[in-house]
Amino acid sequence: MPGFELFGDREKSQVQDVLNTGVLMRYGFDSMRNNHWKALELEEALAKRMQSKYAQVVSSGTAALTVALASAGIGAGDEVIMPTFTFVASFESILALGAVPILVDVDDTLTLDPIAVENAITSKTKVVMPVHMCGSMADLKALKVICDKHDLLLLEDACQAIGGSFDGKPLGSYGDLGCFSFDYVKTITCGEGGAVITNNEKYKLNADHYSDHGHDHVGSNRGTETHPFLGYNFRISELNAAVGCAQLNRLDDFLEIQEKHYNSFRKEIETLSNITLRKVPNGGVENYSFISFFLPTTELAKKAHTALGDAGVDACFYWYDNNWHYYKKWEHLTYKKSLGNLPQEVINQLPDYSKSDFSKSDAWVGRTISCLIKLSWTQEQVLERAAKMKDVLTKFA
Ligand SMILES: *Cc1c(COP(=O)(O)O)cnc(C)c1O
Repeated sequence: MPGFELFGDREKSQVQDVLNTGVLMRYGFDSMRNNHWKALELEEALAKRMQSKYAQVVSSGTAALTVALASAGIGAGDEVIMPTFTFVASFESILALGAVPILVDVDDTLTLDPIAVENAITSKTKVVMPVHMCGSMADLKALKVICDKHDLLLLEDACQAIGGSFDGKPLGSYGDLGCFSFDYVKTITCGEGGAVITNNEKYKLNADHYSDHGHDHVGSNRGTETHPFLGYNFRISELNAAVGCAQLNRLDDFLEIQEKHYNSFRKEIETLSNITLRKVPNGGVENYSFISFFLPTTELAKKAHTALGDAGVDACFYWYDNNWHYYKKWEHLTYKKSLGNLPQEVINQLPDYSKSDFSKSDAWVGRTISCLIKLSWTQEQVLERAAKMKDVLTKFA
């Protein structure tokens, strides 16, 4: 990660196809487009790679989450369980639909703790939304058992873990719905873009309509389409989709590079007695976009993170202090600061986030350091970096 590091001729050639016709829109203009349907092509290729029946490509990962929830009928007052450690898009997509984000603890997988999930279920709960952070996944088997027992939807946010798998299934395809992001810093990028995958025909149809103003896409004349329900514009452009086609084709090569680099880092640091690697649930295979590990205490983790930076080991993250990814610094959510567009009824339903006890999450995330794995590094650079990491981390026993 990220895919932009290896942006090249294949991406340019795909984009050139679109530029040659000038049709930048994914729908209509049939006679002008010289048979290029990049968004459609990306959907077919993605569904196939993810062993899912359907894919809907949209304008971003955040849009994908919103469209996925809407397509399953989630809306006003419905509770959606999400982790304390994620990206702000999780609660943004839930709130956009007037639904209620219910934050719950993460465990040593750095993703949803199944016990915390079960404890958070109420009569209003509709969805469990695990977020497969930093290339690895939640215990999907345990979450599926809970979802089946309580008749809840399982929606996987696989934006940071595309290409990983669980019990032999691609991440995103295990639950009822799965979401990906192709933003500029993800494992595969198309500038801005995202996708929903599902095996449910109704959700696919709903996602297709909802992401394009509710148009039913029947017939080839946009003017005569009907609108079975209200929608919005979450369309991707053909230019972005074209880049996505090229990058998706390269996903397995990217994963191979990431895994190789990951193993070099792992070999150096896993023998250190003060370091524990983040837990990968049984049956899980990471996409290796990060290597994440725990120090014995929060204090040591902070110091080790600073020391890594000082030693030139860049691109390591201390999420606990990060205001995009950890609940502690989501002041806008905690204090419900909207521009006024969130109806008072929605605000009234939200829990008092400032009173939550997430000390279990703190105990894990406070001790976590995650180091990004770049695609462009040479093996020599990786080995040098791994040796430096070991040198630094040895001092924090
Ligand atoms: C990037 C990301 C998103 C949102 O994707 P965008 O394409 O940037 O909107 C959602 N969830 C997670 C976990 C992400 O990392």
